[in-house]
Amino acid sequence: MAYDESNIFARILRGEIPCDKVYEDDHALAFKDINPQTPTHILVVPKGPYASFDDFSAQASEAEIAGFVRAAGKIARELGVVAPGYRILANTGPDAHQEVMHFHLHLFAGKDLGRMIKPPEK
Ligand code: 5GP
Repeated sequence: MAYDESNIFARILRGEIPCDKVYEDDHALAFKDINPQTPTHILVVPKGPYASFDDFSAQASEAEIAGFVRAAGKIARELGVVAPGYRILANTGPDAHQEVMHFHLHLFAGKDLGRMIKPPEK
């Protein structure tokens, strides 16, 4: 999938639109989700132009991948959510309802997050 430079997270990375930043380093920017699903809901995005987890995992350099994963772990520690627990999720493609085509991790915390996937309706 071609990367579209006009996606909303690319615009945030370029500073064209604001975000509520919680962390930044050479490989990652993290900010609060505009429509939080849990008391803590952070988006962690790599700085490079990767459309999805599929794209990032296949195309990013070892340094970008390591730096990004290290940043995500550090953000969770800095937020103080390691002991109570947290969930990281990356929606990828239509079945997962990925809306923004710049790879991002959702970091959810701040309450009991329940089961990982909603059970099927009976
Ligand atoms: P996806 O469905 O692509 O995994 O999730 C995209 C997320 O981006 C959603 O949770 C949505 O609330 C969030 N989002 C969309 N636009 C903005 C924005 O302009 N600023 C922030 N902070 N979050 C956004």
